[in-house]
Amino acid sequence: MNSLKESRNQVLEQIEAACQRAGRESKTVQLLAVSKTHPSEALREMYATGQHKFGENYLQEALEKIEALADLEIEWHFIGHVQRNKTKLLAEKFSWVHGVDRLIIAERLSTQRLDSQRPLNICLQVNIDGQDSKDGCQPEEAAELVQRISQLPHLRLRGIMVIPAPNNVAALLDAQKLFKVVKALHAHPEDWDTLSMGMSGDLEEAIAAGSTMVRIGTALFGARDYSK
Ligand SMILES: *Cc1c(COP(=O)(O)O)cnc(C)c1O
Repeated sequence: MNSLKESRNQVLEQIEAACQRAGRESKTVQLLAVSKTHPSEALREMYATGQHKFGENYLQEALEKIEALADLEIEWHFIGHVQRNKTKLLAEKFSWVHGVDRLIIAERLSTQRLDSQRPLNICLQVNIDGQDSKDGCQPEEAAELVQRISQLPHLRLRGIMVIPAPNNVAALLDAQKLFKVVKALHAHPEDWDTLSMGMSGDLEEAIAAGSTMVRIGTALFGARDYSK
C-alpha cells in the first residue's frame, strides 16, 4: 500500500496534469480530502503532508474527529446531507457546508452561526442530472435560491456543489454553465468562486469542466470500509 504522502502527491500530479490539459493554472483547483470512515490518526498523518482541508459526510463521526484533532488548523467541510435538525452543530463547528439545497436550511445556518465567527461558507447543492434518489435543488430553482441565500448575513455563498452520476460528462458541463449563469443573481458576486465538483473517478473531467474544488476520498486514503 502507498503511504498517504505518496497518494497525495499522485493526486496533486493528476490535478496538475488535468489543469495543464485544460489550460488552467493548478492553483485554481483546491484539493478537499474526503475522510469519511477513516480514523482521526489517518487525518493527522495526511495533515502532516500539508493537507489542511478535510471533508466529512456524517455529523457524529465528524464531531469526534474535530475534537480529536482540535490541536491542528484544519478547515472542516461538511459534504453530506444536511438535516434540518442538525444545522446548529454544522453552523458552529464547520468552515464550509456544501450540501445546502433549501432556503430554510440556509436561513437556519445563518441564524445559528455565532456572531464571533467568520461567515459560514456555503455551496448550493444542485441535482444537476436529475437523479431521483439524490439531494440537491433542481437546476431551475438555483437562480432564486442564489438570490435569496446570498442576502443572508452570516453566510458567504461561494458556489455550487454537484455529485453527478459516474462518467456523466454532460452533467459536468451543465454544472459549469449553471455556475456561470446564476452568478448574476448573487448579492455579492465577488464571493462566487467555487464549483465543488469531481471525485476520485472523474477528477480530470471535472477540472476540464471548470471545477475549482475536487473532493477526493478513495484516491487519497484507499477504499472505505463501512463495516466498522
Ligand atoms: C464520499 C464522497 C466523495 C469522495 O468520493 P471518492 O470517490 O472516494 O473520491 C466526494 N464527494 C462526496 C459528496 C462524497 O460523499
